[in-house]
Amino acid sequence: MHEFAVASDAHAQLIPITPEVQAAVAALGVTDGAVLVHVPHTTAAVTVNEGADPDVAADLLRRFDALVPWRDPADSHDEGNSAAHFKSSLVGCSSVLPVVGGKLALGTWQAVFFCEFDGPRRRRVQVFAVRDKAG
Ligand code: ZN
Repeated sequence: MHEFAVASDAHAQLIPITPEVQAAVAALGVTDGAVLVHVPHTTAAVTVNEGADPDVAADLLRRFDALVPWRDPADSHDEGNSAAHFKSSLVGCSSVLPVVGGKLALGTWQAVFFCEFDGPRRRRVQVFAVRDKAG
C-alpha cells in the first residue's frame, strides 16, 4: 500500500490527485491490472470526473450542496456534520482504477479527485495494488 497526504483548505473542495495516484502506481510497481484508491475518512470521498475544466468540479460541489443541505433539523449526530457523512457515502470512499502499461487508464478528460466535505483538514489517501491469484 502507498499512502499520501492531502491538505484541503476549504469546507468543501474537489482536489485533483491524478499525479499522486499515478506516482503511487509506479511506487507499487503495478504494470497491468488495477489499483484501489481508498480514502480512510467518513466525511471525504474519492471520485473520477472531468479534470480539464475546473468549472465541472465547482458545479459538482454546488449540486452536492443543493442535494444535501448542510443543516437538517432532523439530524441526530451531535457533531453537526451529517451532511458531510451523507456526501461521503453518496460518492464513496474508494474507487478501483484500471492500469495499463504502468499508467492509469483514464479517459482523455478524466481526473481523480479527492472530495473534501468537511474541511479544511489534513487527509490521507491510500492506494492498494489489486492483484489476482496469479499476480
Ligand atoms: Zn461527524
